[in-house]
Amino acid sequence: MEITIQLTPSPIAEKIPPLAAGAAGAWVEFRGVVRGVENGENISALEYEAYPEMAIREIRRLLENISTRQPCLAARVIHRTGIVPVGAAAIYTGIAAKHRAEGFALLAEFMDRLKQDVPIWKRRALPVENSEARIQKSEPAIGHRPSAMQLDEAMAAINSRCQPLPPMRVALEESFGRVLRETVCAPEDLPPFDCSTRDGFAILADDASANLQVVDTIHAAGWQPRQLQSGESVRVATGAPLPCGDLRVVMQENVERHGDQIKILKREAGLNIRSRGEDVKAGVPLVKTGSRLNAGKSALLATVGRVQPLVSPRLRVVHFTTGDEIVSPHQTPKPGQIRDSNSILIRGLLGKTACDVTQRHLPENFAPAQAAISAFRFSLSAFDLVLVSGGASVGDKDFTRPLLEWLGFEIIFSQVDLRPGRPLIFGVNGNRVAFGLPGNPLSHFACFHFAVAMALAKMSGETTPAFLRGKLAAELADARCPRETLWPARWEISGGEIRLHPLPWASSGDVTCLAAANALLRVPANYASLVAGMELDFLPADG
Ligand code: AMP
Ligand code: MG
Repeated sequence: MEITIQLTPSPIAEKIPPLAAGAAGAWVEFRGVVRGVENGENISALEYEAYPEMAIREIRRLLENISTRQPCLAARVIHRTGIVPVGAAAIYTGIAAKHRAEGFALLAEFMDRLKQDVPIWKRRALPVENSEARIQKSEPAIGHRPSAMQLDEAMAAINSRCQPLPPMRVALEESFGRVLRETVCAPEDLPPFDCSTRDGFAILADDASANLQVVDTIHAAGWQPRQLQSGESVRVATGAPLPCGDLRVVMQENVERHGDQIKILKREAGLNIRSRGEDVKAGVPLVKTGSRLNAGKSALLATVGRVQPLVSPRLRVVHFTTGDEIVSPHQTPKPGQIRDSNSILIRGLLGKTACDVTQRHLPENFAPAQAAISAFRFSLSAFDLVLVSGGASVGDKDFTRPLLEWLGFEIIFSQVDLRPGRPLIFGVNGNRVAFGLPGNPLSHFACFHFAVAMALAKMSGETTPAFLRGKLAAELADARCPRETLWPARWEISGGEIRLHPLPWASSGDVTCLAAANALLRVPANYASLVAGMELDFLPADG
């Protein structure tokens, strides 16, 4: 079978001669022309993007596969990429078959499967207004990667594209790691009554008597109001509500007791009382909306009886690893193989977020990966966040972008002008979000903290991560890099200031620094050397 495949940024010719093999039978043609409406909006053009080698390979495989059922004599496929104006052809397919009916059937099947199986995608639709300006600005897509985003732009894009998922009420026990979606205020003063901080004897604060009578006993659970008189005392336990105002508690260690008489040996300077409202007054916010619940915050909610707080849902995350060289950490790698460290890294980084994580490994190529995903009975509706490790770049076998496209994600960007972590893909599909993370573990670490964490925060309704400022504790000298760098480091507070200790790292494959890193320093592009004491932005990265 003669097959000719061409991807081109140029217009497809009006007349294309049939291939010679078609002369003996029927030659059927199809032209797919860009229509003026896309998703209900009037448009002026569509921009197509492709992974050229992979697309050509997949088209060939598809034609060969279809022709095992209906003999195909020859096929010519031309796909235009880059900006294709309304009315112009984006694709031409010519097929030669023995008979006309076979030719039509082949063509129909090919066109159906092309859309699903081949990594050529509509990058964006250009609206009718100001389309000229946009066409002039946009790069010719074929063979060119879209220009990389700057770090700030990428973070802003994630922030604006991710939407908070609807909140729900759950039992307090289920709330750890979820984000509170209501501000909880103190419904009453805390503590709600004056109470003793000691086991001892309550007496009037200004009672100077040395010998007093014990007139009552109050345990922590009891409450018996009573106005004490001079010379009277009440035995109280730690936490017990006091019977009236203007008291002090004398610790039992400083008292001698004989029956219902006590002798005070020493009065402490303090009153040994927690007064009503001394922690917080009624109506004051205790835990604000947007804060992620941890043990302490949940304890505070329990204190005020907020047993069904309004919180974010648990996020459902699927994480696919890719790469035929990747083996389980339980295995001994053969030459060329490496152990999977990204799965546990991602699981650990997600650890403080309430989420359910499903992890699977995918075979290397696009079609087998599609088949594997289908075999898992994978349903996108079961997940809020899709993460793919590896295959995010433009190498021969890098199929993450077409895979995410196939899963229905609109790709917002596929590169960030950053080291490490340049080939980072971000896509959205309704409320769902996907990231294609570059395979190296250090890139994972960096991309997680500025990108995935931003999405997690936004989807959960949490305050989004932001850069802090600290002082370099040591000189940072390195080869000039034209990209911004997120440099692994340790941050600590010392002498009342934030000090940043840069860690050594050899490449984005270097996992050694991850064991110590709790920060990423934002090192500007093209710097020569940063001296100790200089102020830098950094992103806390404690996981
Ligand atoms: P890729 O982004 O697929 O080109 O991978 C870049 C590098 O990351 C390669 O050296 C991979 O072997 C490595 N890599 C990919 N996935 C993993 C993983 N799960 N664990 C550790 N290293 C990985
Ligand atoms: Mg790979």
